[in-house]
Amino acid sequence: MKILTFDIEDWFHIIQKYPDNILERWSNYEVRIHNGMDRIFKILDDNNLKATFFILGYIARKHPEIVKRIHDLGYEVAAHSDMHKAAYRQKRQEYTQDLTDCINSLENITGEKVLSYRAPGFSIKKENVWVFEVLNELGIKYDASIFPATREDGGFDDFSESKPAIIKYNGTQIKEFPMSVNTVFGQKFTVTGGGYFRSFPYRLMRKIIKNADYTMTYFHPRDFDPKQPMLEGLSLKRKFKSYYNLSKSYRKLKQLVYDFNFIDMRQANTLIDWNNVPIVDLSHYSDNK
Ligand SMILES: [Zn+2]
Repeated sequence: MKILTFDIEDWFHIIQKYPDNILERWSNYEVRIHNGMDRIFKILDDNNLKATFFILGYIARKHPEIVKRIHDLGYEVAAHSDMHKAAYRQKRQEYTQDLTDCINSLENITGEKVLSYRAPGFSIKKENVWVFEVLNELGIKYDASIFPATREDGGFDDFSESKPAIIKYNGTQIKEFPMSVNTVFGQKFTVTGGGYFRSFPYRLMRKIIKNADYTMTYFHPRDFDPKQPMLEGLSLKRKFKSYYNLSKSYRKLKQLVYDFNFIDMRQANTLIDWNNVPIVDLSHYSDNK
């Protein structure tokens, strides 16, 4: 099973500690999201593919036509937070408000309940598993926030599964579509999103994906916009992750969807026998509500 998903944000929505005047700062940046969106829409149309789109509430209000187009084309509209703040940097109340704002902004456009979610930067860690209670409260049924390896931002390194699972937490449960990770030379990482997607030789990537039972992807409009400016104040590692090999990534995505059959999360959900997936109970993790 290979699942195609996109996180819909602009080139400057790179996760970091945001200053108080972040909205003002964002409004001064050039809007470039349409460059990447056009290429994404084209690739889906050319290959008759469906995908799940995790969209920022901020984007839904600034560019409602993007959400409308995604929805009108029959693709899944899903939530990616309102302001792209790391979930683990927020208190429960602030987090709940942010996600509520996102869901409302999306549902106002589509008229349909949002059922799927991915935290910005895979920011559910063992320290903030209370997020799953909030997702339950807000009617989210499918989560794609778990990155089962260490990561600069986020990551849940001792999450045991790198394939669909049921997460149980304090009496709630949710269907989890974690990021797929691959172990090479003892290192866990993913080749189907982020810096590794751009830097990994395609032939090797294809071999890894061919041998995997489950592949999750995460791409952004900015991944397919090589002319974007570079955001100031980022670490070298971060720069590599966000900008290296940008010019090659669109060709790689085209090759990827040509070589493999991708589906969206909605279809994946109907194909998975949820009675026979691993159950991961996170209730024992200590809480910092
Ligand atoms: Zn994001």
